[in-house]
Amino acid sequence: MTQKFLIPEIHMPPSRYSIQGQDARHIAKVLRLTVTDQIQVTNGEGMDFTAQITAVSRDRVELDIIEVHSSSTESSIAITLCSGMLKDKKMDLVIKHVTQLGICRWIPFFCRRSIPTPDRKRMENRSQRWKSIAQESLKQCQRSRVPEIVPPLNFEQVLDHAVDHDLKIAFWEEETQRLNTLKKAPAGNRIMVLVGPEGGFTKTELSLAKEKGFSSFSLGPRILRAETASICACTLIQHLLGDM
Ligand code: SAH
Repeated sequence: MTQKFLIPEIHMPPSRYSIQGQDARHIAKVLRLTVTDQIQVTNGEGMDFTAQITAVSRDRVELDIIEVHSSSTESSIAITLCSGMLKDKKMDLVIKHVTQLGICRWIPFFCRRSIPTPDRKRMENRSQRWKSIAQESLKQCQRSRVPEIVPPLNFEQVLDHAVDHDLKIAFWEEETQRLNTLKKAPAGNRIMVLVGPEGGFTKTELSLAKEKGFSSFSLGPRILRAETASICACTLIQHLLGDM
């Protein structure tokens, strides 16, 4: 099995569904699947299904949804990653990779040293694009839950989300404390992570975060590009506390 299909509106078995458009052509022409073959489907909200193909035409594939099963690809920890706003391509890269790293929620934010806030229309387009990148990434890595993408916030609004988390980590390039000094897992599994924009956090922003219960950590002695830092932060946290 090389791919999982995403059908948000899928119903519990026994039920039927027909796939049309690009996914249908992919099944028929690229994967060359036919009647009697089965495919794996997710609703993108944590549930997986086995579906039996019952008919294939050029633009349409009919499915019998025969089985529901719980996901084996979702992490035991729920990471909320907050990334300081970067230019388009870099943000696209972040959401593509951190989806594969199993994050649960992504909050892009504007702060003192991030790029200027674009107009609303442009921001909406970007959010839409991030959503479809996350969906594509989900299919490829066979996750079962599309990360929630929160519309961009300012730094103070981001900090308001902290109360819902059990462990709060801010990555700061002037810190020396390494993540492996985290001795034990937090009581709950909700972890909030702050990574600054290219210009980094100001001292004031960092102390505001500390007031809200964040501890600062280092990602080593080298200064990473902001997008690398987001990817690296999720990898290390999944390794230390999650399932990598
Ligand atoms: N402008 C800053 C670097 C910012 S790097 C400077 O030139 O000094 C962008 C973000 O990545 C930072 O805000 C931080 O959250 C993270 N980051 C990059 N390298 C890091 C490191 N070595 N340790 C901790 N965080 C780091």
